[in-house]
Amino acid sequence: MAATEFELIDRYFNQAGLVFDRAGVVLGPGDDAAILSVSPERQLLVSVDTLNEGVHFPAGAPPHLLAERCLRVNLSDLAAMGGDPVGFTLALSMPDVSESWLQAFSSALAQVAREFNCVLLGGDTTRGAFSVTVQVHGEVPRGQALLRSGARAGDGIYVTGTLGNGAAALSYLQAKSDLHDCDQPDPECEYWLNAFYRPVPRLKESQVLRGLASAAIDISDGLASDLVHIIEASSRACGRALGAALEVSRIPHSDEFQRLAPEEQQLELALSGGDDYELCVCIPPQHERAAEAALAATGTQFTRIGVVDGHAGVRLVDDNGQAEPLTIHGYRHFDAAPPSPGTARAPRGKP
Ligand code: ADP
Ligand code: MG
Repeated sequence: MAATEFELIDRYFNQAGLVFDRAGVVLGPGDDAAILSVSPERQLLVSVDTLNEGVHFPAGAPPHLLAERCLRVNLSDLAAMGGDPVGFTLALSMPDVSESWLQAFSSALAQVAREFNCVLLGGDTTRGAFSVTVQVHGEVPRGQALLRSGARAGDGIYVTGTLGNGAAALSYLQAKSDLHDCDQPDPECEYWLNAFYRPVPRLKESQVLRGLASAAIDISDGLASDLVHIIEASSRACGRALGAALEVSRIPHSDEFQRLAPEEQQLELALSGGDDYELCVCIPPQHERAAEAALAATGTQFTRIGVVDGHAGVRLVDDNGQAEPLTIHGYRHFDAAPPSPGTARAPRGKP
């Protein structure tokens, strides 16, 4: 089987020749963003994501929606670190120039930039296959970034919002004859377009969790995969095998998701569908009440779905206490046949 994106990164890029000790670099590859030390009080966060046509967004995606998605998913990585957005660079590659497309794209981008106080810093505009790369820069008080590696046995596992909407939105849109055209007014269609193209980066939620959470990640590839990233990074950091028990019936879903997704598919969509851009957060027992109160003040749903423990691997626990190992995983690039360009297949996961 072909190597997954994570095996390729480890084999070729996460190696001593490229990732070495250097003053000012606090954290390199492996988390949602890198951390650089720039002042005694603040640290800089850097993260980049590419969105390719036919892989991360369907061909023909309307420019205003594409603009929203490409900045929002990047901001989600800053949220995963507990950071405040500062600015972003934009590398845009297009086969031809359409000024009306660029007008709509840039206006929508400006709205998101204003909403999250994240300024355009520069970029690169080139001819080529259609692709948008955004690199976001954020800041965090020194030492307060939320890493993937801080979870320990006994920590509660929480998620913000609900899971499954990203995957359900994609199948809803793909089932329509025109992916992006909602008959007006069609609140259901608008809801799923927003779910896919306008995920809410959980910035205010993660900022109040600084000092309370032991670990965090944003759920871009699916809870199954992203929680395993936390467990693996935390096991390496503490030198002992950690695992997790997830209580299946506690995994939160939206009402819309429950109406749309067949019941027998709901768990799999929520665990491996990806594109939710919610946070998965671990909280040490002594901070759980404070974290729940802090999140309640933001008005965002915050659900305890399990616990980190010392039994290796992630297990799914049903209402009778029966446990089975988690076997499904989230989206991984290069894992299967590549999506055919120009189709709407698999627009999720990040390289
Ligand atoms: P996310 O889903 O949070 O955007 P990814 O799954 O894209 O993260 O990447 C996982 C980790 O691997 C990140 O820390 C990212 O910086 C790192 N990474 C990905 N591609 C490369 C690369 N070509 N070189 C170095 N690091 C990489
Ligand atoms: Mg991430």
